[in-house]
Amino acid sequence: MRLLLVEDDPMIGAGVQRGLRQDGHTVDWARDGEAAELALANGVYELVLLDLGLPKKSGEELLAGWRRRGVALPVLVITARDSVADRVKGLDAGADDYLVKPFDLDELSARVRALMRRKDGRAVPVIEVGALSLDPAAHAVALDGRSVALSKREFSLLHALMKQPGVPLSREKIEESLYGWNEEIESNAVEVYIHSLRRKLGAGRIRNVRGVGYMVPHEP
Ligand code: CA
Repeated sequence: MRLLLVEDDPMIGAGVQRGLRQDGHTVDWARDGEAAELALANGVYELVLLDLGLPKKSGEELLAGWRRRGVALPVLVITARDSVADRVKGLDAGADDYLVKPFDLDELSARVRALMRRKDGRAVPVIEVGALSLDPAAHAVALDGRSVALSKREFSLLHALMKQPGVPLSREKIEESLYGWNEEIESNAVEVYIHSLRRKLGAGRIRNVRGVGYMVPHEP
Protein backbone atom coordinates (compact mmCIF):
# COMPACT_ATOMS: atom_id res chain seq x y z
CA MET A 1 0.00 0.00 0.00
CA ARG A 2 1.33 3.39 -0.92
CA LEU A 3 1.18 6.11 1.73
CA LEU A 4 2.12 9.77 1.78
CA LEU A 5 3.87 10.99 4.91
CA VAL A 6 3.92 14.77 5.45
CA GLU A 7 6.29 15.69 8.25
CA ASP A 8 9.04 18.32 8.63
CA ASP A 9 10.76 16.85 11.68
CA PRO A 10 13.60 14.69 10.30
CA MET A 11 13.76 12.35 13.29
CA ILE A 12 10.05 11.68 13.49
CA GLY A 13 9.74 11.45 9.71
CA ALA A 14 12.56 8.93 9.42
CA GLY A 15 11.16 6.85 12.28
CA VAL A 16 7.64 6.77 10.86
CA GLN A 17 8.87 5.99 7.35
CA ARG A 18 11.03 3.15 8.61
CA GLY A 19 8.26 1.72 10.78
CA LEU A 20 5.66 1.77 8.04
CA ARG A 21 8.08 0.28 5.53
CA GLN A 22 8.63 -2.57 7.93
CA ASP A 23 4.88 -3.11 7.76
CA GLY A 24 5.30 -3.58 4.02
CA HIS A 25 3.97 -0.17 2.95
CA THR A 26 5.49 2.05 0.33
CA VAL A 27 6.02 5.44 1.96
CA ASP A 28 6.75 8.71 0.16
CA TRP A 29 7.87 11.46 2.50
CA ALA A 30 7.08 15.13 1.81
CA ARG A 31 8.88 17.55 4.13
CA ASP A 32 6.80 20.69 3.68
CA GLY A 33 3.29 21.76 2.72
CA GLU A 34 4.07 22.58 -0.89
CA ALA A 35 5.84 19.28 -1.49
CA ALA A 36 2.80 17.54 -0.02
CA GLU A 37 0.46 19.41 -2.34
CA LEU A 38 2.56 18.42 -5.34
CA ALA A 39 2.85 14.80 -4.24
CA LEU A 40 -0.88 14.44 -3.80
CA ALA A 41 -1.61 16.03 -7.16
CA ASN A 42 0.67 13.54 -8.92
CA GLY A 43 0.69 10.43 -6.81
CA VAL A 44 -1.67 7.59 -6.15
CA TYR A 45 -2.00 7.19 -2.41
CA GLU A 46 -4.33 5.23 -0.20
CA LEU A 47 -3.73 7.24 2.95
CA VAL A 48 -2.01 10.44 4.13
CA LEU A 49 -0.20 10.88 7.46
CA LEU A 50 -0.26 14.59 8.08
CA ASP A 51 1.65 16.76 10.51
CA LEU A 52 -0.04 20.12 11.20
CA GLY A 53 2.87 22.47 11.91
CA LEU A 54 4.64 22.53 8.52
CA PRO A 55 6.77 25.02 6.57
CA LYS A 56 5.27 26.74 3.51
CA LYS A 57 1.72 25.51 4.08
CA SER A 58 0.19 24.22 7.28
CA GLY A 59 -1.43 20.85 7.65
CA GLU A 60 -4.77 22.51 8.41
CA GLU A 61 -4.61 24.46 5.14
CA LEU A 62 -3.68 21.36 3.18
CA LEU A 63 -6.45 19.31 4.69
CA ALA A 64 -9.09 22.01 4.22
CA GLY A 65 -8.04 22.42 0.57
CA TRP A 66 -8.16 18.68 -0.15
CA ARG A 67 -11.58 18.28 1.39
CA ARG A 68 -12.87 21.34 -0.48
CA ARG A 69 -11.69 19.77 -3.72
CA GLY A 70 -13.39 16.50 -2.83
CA VAL A 71 -10.28 14.47 -2.07
CA ALA A 72 -11.77 11.65 -0.02
CA LEU A 73 -8.49 9.97 0.94
CA PRO A 74 -8.22 8.93 4.61
CA VAL A 75 -6.06 11.41 6.53
CA LEU A 76 -4.43 10.53 9.83
CA VAL A 77 -3.20 13.67 11.59
CA ILE A 78 0.01 13.30 13.60
CA THR A 79 0.78 16.31 15.69
CA ALA A 80 2.17 17.68 18.91
CA ARG A 81 -0.87 19.89 19.45
CA ASP A 82 -2.78 17.96 21.98
CA SER A 83 -5.40 20.25 23.40
CA VAL A 84 -8.94 19.00 23.03
CA ALA A 85 -9.87 22.08 21.03
CA ASP A 86 -7.09 21.38 18.51
CA ARG A 87 -8.18 17.79 18.10
CA VAL A 88 -11.79 18.76 17.56
CA LYS A 89 -10.69 21.37 15.03
CA GLY A 90 -8.59 18.83 13.15
CA LEU A 91 -11.35 16.25 13.00
CA ASP A 92 -13.88 18.86 11.93
CA ALA A 93 -11.51 19.96 9.18
CA GLY A 94 -11.75 16.48 7.71
CA ALA A 95 -9.18 14.33 9.49
CA ASP A 96 -10.19 10.70 9.91
CA ASP A 97 -8.09 10.04 12.95
CA TYR A 98 -5.66 11.77 15.25
CA LEU A 99 -2.43 10.72 16.92
CA VAL A 100 -0.55 12.97 19.35
CA LYS A 101 3.26 12.97 19.43
CA PRO A 102 5.12 11.23 20.84
CA PHE A 103 3.29 8.10 19.77
CA ASP A 104 4.10 4.45 19.62
CA LEU A 105 4.83 3.04 16.16
CA ASP A 106 2.76 -0.04 16.89
CA GLU A 107 -0.22 2.16 17.62
CA LEU A 108 0.37 4.08 14.40
CA SER A 109 0.49 0.79 12.44
CA ALA A 110 -2.74 -0.38 14.03
CA ARG A 111 -4.51 2.89 13.26
CA VAL A 112 -3.32 2.80 9.65
CA ARG A 113 -4.74 -0.70 9.32
CA ALA A 114 -8.03 0.35 10.92
CA LEU A 115 -8.38 3.31 8.53
CA MET A 116 -7.66 1.10 5.53
CA ARG A 117 -10.28 -1.40 6.67
CA ARG A 118 -12.80 1.39 6.93
CA LYS A 119 -11.81 2.72 3.50
CA ASP A 120 -12.24 -0.73 2.00
CA GLY A 121 -15.55 -1.16 3.78
CA ARG A 122 -14.45 -4.10 5.88
CA ALA A 123 -15.08 -4.54 9.57
CA VAL A 124 -12.95 -7.65 10.02
CA PRO A 125 -9.16 -7.44 9.84
CA VAL A 126 -8.50 -10.65 7.89
CA ILE A 127 -9.27 -10.65 4.16
CA GLU A 128 -10.62 -13.90 2.79
CA VAL A 129 -11.12 -14.86 -0.83
CA GLY A 130 -12.15 -18.48 -1.26
CA ALA A 131 -9.53 -20.66 0.42
CA LEU A 132 -7.06 -17.79 0.59
CA SER A 133 -6.75 -15.62 3.68
CA LEU A 134 -4.52 -12.64 4.31
CA ASP A 135 -3.95 -10.98 7.67
CA PRO A 136 -2.47 -7.48 7.21
CA ALA A 137 -1.56 -7.12 10.91
CA ALA A 138 0.31 -10.40 11.19
CA HIS A 139 1.64 -10.25 7.63
CA ALA A 140 0.40 -13.77 7.21
CA VAL A 141 -1.10 -15.55 4.23
CA ALA A 142 -2.75 -18.93 4.39
CA LEU A 143 -4.15 -21.26 1.78
CA ASP A 144 -6.65 -23.83 3.01
CA GLY A 145 -5.50 -22.97 6.53
CA ARG A 146 -1.86 -23.68 5.79
CA SER A 147 0.50 -20.73 6.01
CA VAL A 148 2.41 -19.65 2.90
CA ALA A 149 5.69 -17.72 3.17
CA LEU A 150 5.79 -14.64 0.94
CA SER A 151 8.35 -11.90 0.42
CA LYS A 152 7.40 -8.36 1.37
CA ARG A 153 6.63 -7.34 -2.22
CA GLU A 154 4.73 -10.53 -2.95
CA PHE A 155 2.64 -9.89 0.15
CA SER A 156 1.92 -6.28 -0.85
CA LEU A 157 0.96 -7.32 -4.35
CA LEU A 158 -1.36 -10.07 -3.13
CA HIS A 159 -2.86 -7.66 -0.59
CA ALA A 160 -3.65 -5.14 -3.34
CA LEU A 161 -5.33 -7.83 -5.45
CA MET A 162 -7.27 -9.45 -2.60
CA LYS A 163 -8.74 -6.14 -1.48
CA GLN A 164 -10.79 -6.17 -4.66
CA PRO A 165 -11.39 -9.77 -5.64
CA GLY A 166 -12.67 -10.22 -9.16
CA VAL A 167 -11.44 -6.78 -10.19
CA PRO A 168 -8.35 -6.67 -12.40
CA LEU A 169 -5.52 -4.28 -11.50
CA SER A 170 -3.33 -2.97 -14.29
CA ARG A 171 0.42 -3.44 -14.18
CA GLU A 172 0.82 0.34 -13.85
CA LYS A 173 -1.50 0.43 -10.83
CA ILE A 174 0.38 -2.45 -9.24
CA GLU A 175 3.72 -0.71 -9.83
CA GLU A 176 2.35 2.51 -8.34
CA SER A 177 1.26 0.71 -5.20
CA LEU A 178 4.53 -1.22 -4.80
CA TYR A 179 7.13 1.44 -5.51
CA GLY A 180 7.79 4.84 -3.98
CA TRP A 181 9.90 7.82 -5.02
CA ASN A 182 13.43 7.05 -6.13
CA GLU A 183 12.76 3.36 -6.23
CA GLU A 184 13.75 1.89 -9.53
CA ILE A 185 11.21 -0.44 -11.09
CA GLU A 186 12.67 -3.25 -13.13
CA SER A 187 10.68 -3.65 -16.29
CA ASN A 188 9.40 -7.16 -15.61
CA ALA A 189 9.27 -7.00 -11.80
CA VAL A 190 5.48 -7.34 -11.56
CA GLU A 191 5.50 -10.41 -13.84
CA VAL A 192 8.22 -11.96 -11.67
CA TYR A 193 6.18 -11.45 -8.49
CA ILE A 194 3.04 -12.77 -10.15
CA HIS A 195 4.92 -15.82 -11.38
CA SER A 196 6.25 -16.49 -7.90
CA LEU A 197 2.82 -16.01 -6.27
CA ARG A 198 1.27 -18.44 -8.74
CA ARG A 199 3.94 -20.98 -7.98
CA LYS A 200 3.27 -20.69 -4.24
CA LEU A 201 -0.52 -20.42 -4.34
CA GLY A 202 -1.49 -22.32 -7.48
CA ALA A 203 -1.78 -20.82 -10.94
CA GLY A 204 -5.56 -20.36 -10.75
CA ARG A 205 -5.39 -18.02 -7.76
CA ILE A 206 -4.19 -15.12 -9.86
CA ARG A 207 -5.71 -14.62 -13.26
CA ASN A 208 -4.26 -12.64 -16.11
CA VAL A 209 -6.96 -10.62 -17.83
CA ARG A 210 -5.46 -10.00 -21.22
CA GLY A 211 -4.79 -6.37 -21.94
CA VAL A 212 -6.23 -5.30 -18.57
CA GLY A 213 -4.16 -6.69 -15.73
CA TYR A 214 -4.25 -9.23 -12.94
CA MET A 215 -6.91 -10.27 -10.48
CA VAL A 216 -7.64 -12.70 -7.71
CA PRO A 217 -10.87 -14.45 -8.78
CA HIS A 218 -13.57 -15.28 -6.22
CA GLU A 219 -13.24 -18.88 -7.34
CA PRO A 220 -10.03 -20.19 -8.92
CA1 CA B 1 6.00 19.92 12.37
